[in-house]
Amino acid sequence: MSDTLMNRNTHSSSPTRQDILIVGCGIAGPVLATLLLSSYIPIATLPQITVLERNTAALGSGQNIDIRGFGKHVIEKLGLTQEIKTGSTGEEGVKIVDATNRIWAQFAADKTGKVETGTSDVEILRGRLAEILLKQTKAVSKDVEARGGKGVEFIFGDSIEGLHQDKDKVHVQLRDAGKRSFDLVVGADGLHSKTRKLAWGSQQEGCLKPLHMFGAFFSAAKEEADGDWRSWHHAPGGVSVMLRPSGTKEKSTVLVLLADKNGTIAEEMAGSKRDVLAQKRLVLKKLNNIVWQESRLKRAVESADDFYFDTTAQIKLDRWSKGRVVLLGDAGHCASPFSGMGTTLALAGAYHLAGSLVAIPIDYQKAFARYEDSMRPLVQKAQGLPPEGHQLK
Ligand SMILES: Cc1cc2nc3c(=O)[nH]c(=O)nc-3n(C[C@H](O)[C@H](O)[C@H](O)COP(=O)(O)OP(=O)(O)OC[C@H]3O[C@@H](n4cnc5c(N)ncnc54)[C@H](O)[C@@H]3O)c2cc1C
Repeated sequence: MSDTLMNRNTHSSSPTRQDILIVGCGIAGPVLATLLLSSYIPIATLPQITVLERNTAALGSGQNIDIRGFGKHVIEKLGLTQEIKTGSTGEEGVKIVDATNRIWAQFAADKTGKVETGTSDVEILRGRLAEILLKQTKAVSKDVEARGGKGVEFIFGDSIEGLHQDKDKVHVQLRDAGKRSFDLVVGADGLHSKTRKLAWGSQQEGCLKPLHMFGAFFSAAKEEADGDWRSWHHAPGGVSVMLRPSGTKEKSTVLVLLADKNGTIAEEMAGSKRDVLAQKRLVLKKLNNIVWQESRLKRAVESADDFYFDTTAQIKLDRWSKGRVVLLGDAGHCASPFSGMGTTLALAGAYHLAGSLVAIPIDYQKAFARYEDSMRPLVQKAQGLPPEGHQLK
């Protein structure tokens, strides 16, 4: 990897090696690790990076996500454009269909990438992208070790449970691995970030702005009629379903959106945040009588081993850093799946945070401020959803 990130390291003083904990190995986390290890010269000043992930392996689940604008620039810098494009879903555009599958409107994707439409010219399954990014981080880590540096320490299947900081270090409590101390902690642990909750405490209450809708993402066995277009059906009762190509012959992907204006779903699911069976039961109930693809969708929900269910929300915070802790990706500024920008923001954030830490290695506060200055305009634009645009009637 070449370019500005590496060349930004123009400081004259030689910083000591920093211990950095990255919480979350989704999209933003591994990219930050890769960029930090690819940027520092000489090798003695490369940071010692620990990546902590709650799941026992990088999650291969998650459906179609877009990479747009600056995100494309980042994957180009990572040298991954070709691999990502080869693994893309191949979606040709969006068709709005009724219960009889009659098409009422259709919007073709612009495969040149010049015009942004509902389907980006770079669209890939989230799980596939997460695997590509982690594979690269592991390769970069191995290369650093081969050159005598410290590679990345990966801790899977553990979680951050406690955090406090003094002027020199952040002290964290991991559920299984016990107490550890780091110079900096990066919370890249998604919409419901535990790092954010631990570091901000009551100051982060209210930062999660619900969009009053839940989303269920899962796969269905592909049928010939599915083709390479996204079919989007709005059913009565606040249920909206998208059936999309996955880029494979075996499966199509499904997104079921459930409107929750009165908060009844939120109430019903409050105690079932990680209870997939309860989430599946709710979605099956909501699919009753939607007619379009009903029995097929229900079968797919029942058999899905990649079922992912969550609220849709945005995160709005005045500052993305607190002392030695900084937030990255959805943890700091989730824009929601409606923006089509979550992954782009995660990639851009990793790029700007790595660039800032490389450029100002001896003053993390200035580095965090610079990262935030670079990212705020992009985030503000991405979070500006059309008024009522996300509401299902
Ligand atoms: C399983 C999954 C499926 C998704 N599917 C879609 C989709 O189909 N469409 C879409 O638009 N967006 C989806 N998203 C959200 C999308 O990935 C993000 O909006 C975007 O890519 C930003 O990435 P991120 O790295 O900031 O966060 P994420 O991709 O959410 O990654 C956060 C990571 O942190 C880990 N984590 C959480 N808490 C802890 C903890 N306490 N300790 C350690 N690790 C922790 C999570 O397991 C996850 O790997 C999905 C997210 C996940 C986790």
